[in-house]
Amino acid sequence: MQVKTCEVCGKRAARYICQECSREVCQFCFEPATWICLNCYNSPKRETSALESFQWSTPFKLFLLGFVLMFVGIIVIMVAAVLFGASMDAGAVIWIFPLPPIGFGTGPYALWVILLGVALTVLGLILFIMLRKRAR
Ligand SMILES: [Zn+2]
Ligand SMILES: [Zn+2]
Repeated sequence: MQVKTCEVCGKRAARYICQECSREVCQFCFEPATWICLNCYNSPKRETSALESFQWSTPFKLFLLGFVLMFVGIIVIMVAAVLFGASMDAGAVIWIFPLPPIGFGTGPYALWVILLGVALTVLGLILFIMLRKRAR
């Protein structure tokens, strides 16, 4: 059985095939995380695209998280409204991320809605700080 040599260094036996240029490369000329050879990994075009995607993805994830939290907050309030019954006149929490949610209500349970809003703010802030620390 013929063993092919690495097309990057030309010394060691080839073990992987680059998904970018489909060259057969050895384990030392290969980047397993991205499944590409070092030739493609070190090319300037690849570096800029990787950097751009990283810069875009982190704020986008935080933005998405804000939306998810806002959505969860609305669902919680809707469930609370159903549980409390028709005696609850009106209550809502408006949350424009990353600003703190604004709670208002005119029913006997308006206080609970506002407290819920405050609790969600704290939760959101903790998550926001944690994600920021992890991103750095
Ligand atoms: Zn090699
Ligand atoms: Zn390659």
